[in-house]
Amino acid sequence: MLFSGLKVWTSRSLWIHRLHEGINGGGKARYSSCSPKVCIVGGGPAGFYTAQHLIKARPDVTVDIYERLPVPFGLVRFGVAPDHPEVKNVINAFTQTARRERCSFYGNVNVGKDLSVTELQEAYHAVVLSYGAEGNRRMGVPGEDLSGVYSAKDFVGWYNGLPSCRELGPDLSCETAVILGQGNVALDIARVLLSPIDLLKKTDITQPALEVLEESRVRRVLIVGRRGPTQIAGTVKEVREMVNLPNTRPDMLASDFEGVKEALKDLPRPRKRLTELMLKTAMETPGEKEHERREKASRVWGLRFYRSPVEILADPQRSSRTAGIRLAVNKLEGSGEEARAVLTGEMEDVSCGLIISSIGYKSLSIDPSVPFDSHRSIVPNNMGRIQEAPGLYCSGWLKTGPTGVIATTLNNSFDTVRSMLEDMDSGTLNTSAAKPGSQSTNALLENRGVKPVTFSEWEKIDSEEVRRGAAIGKPREKLLTVEEMLQLAGK
Ligand code: FAD
Ligand code: NAP
Repeated sequence: MLFSGLKVWTSRSLWIHRLHEGINGGGKARYSSCSPKVCIVGGGPAGFYTAQHLIKARPDVTVDIYERLPVPFGLVRFGVAPDHPEVKNVINAFTQTARRERCSFYGNVNVGKDLSVTELQEAYHAVVLSYGAEGNRRMGVPGEDLSGVYSAKDFVGWYNGLPSCRELGPDLSCETAVILGQGNVALDIARVLLSPIDLLKKTDITQPALEVLEESRVRRVLIVGRRGPTQIAGTVKEVREMVNLPNTRPDMLASDFEGVKEALKDLPRPRKRLTELMLKTAMETPGEKEHERREKASRVWGLRFYRSPVEILADPQRSSRTAGIRLAVNKLEGSGEEARAVLTGEMEDVSCGLIISSIGYKSLSIDPSVPFDSHRSIVPNNMGRIQEAPGLYCSGWLKTGPTGVIATTLNNSFDTVRSMLEDMDSGTLNTSAAKPGSQSTNALLENRGVKPVTFSEWEKIDSEEVRRGAAIGKPREKLLTVEEMLQLAGK
C-alpha cells in the first residue's frame, strides 16, 4: 500500500514521459535555436501516428504531411473492410492531429513525381517516408494475367472506392471463386463476396460495388493456403465471422485436419483458440439449431490447406478467361510457425471462374535517390533510420513490410520518432540552420501546376460523402474519382 501512489519509472515509461513532455533526461529543454521542420510522405496510419508522436514530443517541431491522393487515411479508408466500421474510429485521432496548428496536410501531392525526395530533404530538417505498400506480390504462375484473375489489392480497392481501381469491373457471373492465401485480407474478401447484400447496404462499400455484388452468382468461395491449419495467417475473430456469416455453411476437408487435434496442446494460446475453432467447424457434428441453419444456407465457404498455385487454367471456349486453377499438393517440413510447404508431386485442378490472389502487398520504390531493398521490398533501415541516408527516416509498412494491424503500425511509428528524437538530441540530425519547409515546396508545386488539398478542404469532401451516404442509409458514399474530389475541394 505504501507504494501505491508512486510511479515506477521503467526505461520505456521514462522515455514516454520525456516524449510527451519534450524534455531531455537532464530535466531541461535542450532544443536547437531554430524549430525543426519535418515532413512525412504518406497520409496513412504510419504518417499520422508519426506526426502525432512528434508533435507531442517536441513543442517546437512543425510537421507537414504529403499525401498522393486528395483524401487522407490510406488503408483505413481503402483497405479496412466496409463491415468493420469500428476499426475506422482511428480516423478521429488522426483528424485531431491534422487540426493541430503545427501540422499541415498536403493532399494530391505525389512524391517521386510532383516533388522529389531530394527537394524535400532540401526544404526540411528530416523526411519520414511512410508511403505504405502499394504493390502486390505476384504468384508467378502461368495464366496469372487471364481475365477473371485479380489481385486482392485491386479487388479490395474496387469495393472500397480507390480511384485507380474504379474500372476493375470484376466478373462475378461464376459459381465458384478461389482465393489464394489465408491471411485476414483473404478472409475480408471471402466475407464481402458471401455477405447478404442487406448487411453490406448499411456499410460504406461503394454503390457500384454493391450493385455488382447484388447481381453476383458466386455461391462457393474456397480460401486456399500452402501450409496447414496450424499455420493459417488469418486470426480467430475473422475466422469466427466466416463461421457465423448468415446464409452460409462451411465446407472443410477432414483430411486437412489429420493430426491437428494432437498438436493442440503445444500451440500458443491465440493460435490454439483459432485451431480449436477450425477443428470444431470442420469435424464436429453441429447441434440441431446450427444444423438447421447450415441446411438452409445457399452459400458455401471452405478453407483448403496444403495447396499451392501452379497454373491458372484458361477456358477452352474463351482462351483469354480463366476456368480453373491447378494446385500442387504439399506436405510440411518442420513444425510450428516455421514449417515449410514442400511439393509432393501430386496435382489437383479446381474449376472456378474467379481467382483472387491474396498473398500479400509489397512496397515500391518511388524515388531512385532513396535506398531500396528490392529483394525484401522495403527501405533498408535501422530502427526507422534509412541506411546511408542521414535525415531520412521511414515508418509503417514501408519500414517493416506489409504485415501487422494498425496497432502494430502505431508502435513502429513510435519507434521511428524515438530514433529521430535521439538524433536531434545527439546532433546527428542537424537542426541548427533554418530550413524553408513548405515555403519552398509550395513554390515548386505552384510552378508545376499541382494544387495541394488542405485538411480543411478534405473536410469539405468528407461532409459531402457523409451527406450522400445519409441519403441512402449508409455512413458515407465515397467519391470515386480524383477529379470529383478536387472539384469538391474547390481546386
Ligand atoms: P498505408 O495505410 O498504405 O498508407 C500509406 C499512404 O501513403 C497512403 O495514403 C498512400 O496513398 C500514400 N502514398 C503512397 N505513395 C505515395 C507517394 N508517392 N506520395 C505521397 N503519398 C503516397 N489493420 C487493422 O488493424 N484492422 C483491419 O481491419 C485492417 N484491415 C486491413 C485490410 C486490408 C485490405 C489491408 C491491406 C490492411 C488492413 N489492416 C488492418 C492493416 C493496416 O491497414 C495497416 O497496418 C496500415 O494501414 C499500414 O499503414 P501505412 O501508413 O504504413 O500504409
Ligand atoms: P498475410 O497475413 O501475410 O497473409 C498472406 C497469405 O499469403 C498467407 O497465407 C501466406 O502463406 C500466403 N502466401 C504468401 N506468399 C505465398 C505464395 N508465394 N504462394 C502461396 N501463398 C502465399 O497478409 P494479408 O492477408 O495481405 O494481410 C496483411 C496484414 O494486414 C496482416 O498483418 C493482417 O493481419 C492485416 N489485416 C488485418 C485485418 C484485421 O485485423 N481484420 C484485416 C486485413 C488485414 P504463408 O503463411 O505460408 O506464408
